[in-house]
Amino acid sequence: MVGEIIAGLLFSSMALLADGLHMALHATALMISAFAYFYARRHAHDESYSFGTGKVGTLAGYSSAILLVMFALVMVVESGERFLHPVAIAFNEAIVVAMIRQVAIDAVDEGIKCEVLAYKIVT
Ligand SMILES: [Zn+2]
Repeated sequence: MVGEIIAGLLFSSMALLADGLHMALHATALMISAFAYFYARRHAHDESYSFGTGKVGTLAGYSSAILLVMFALVMVVESGERFLHPVAIAFNEAIVVAMIRQVAIDAVDEGIKCEVLAYKIVT
């Protein structure tokens, strides 16, 4: 994710930059959700929350959606800018980073499949 963002900026690759920011948004949304979950649990019996903390999760989802829209707007503006004023893309370097990313994702995916299979065998 961080490598993709850095490589996207270095090699002028919108594909790497967009994918890296996309993954960063997922990580941020996950952190917002985790924070909301623990915050809501901690204050679940707090009397100052007249209607409970049930809406904290909704607010977290709303915040994530706002971030997604902001991210999409940034990408639209950047893409439009590059459409009007094209920049040279270092394709060879960008392809290498994209291949490393794909191998890493495939490795994680296979690891998850093995974990699920092991869980099914055990249970
Ligand atoms: Zn996604």
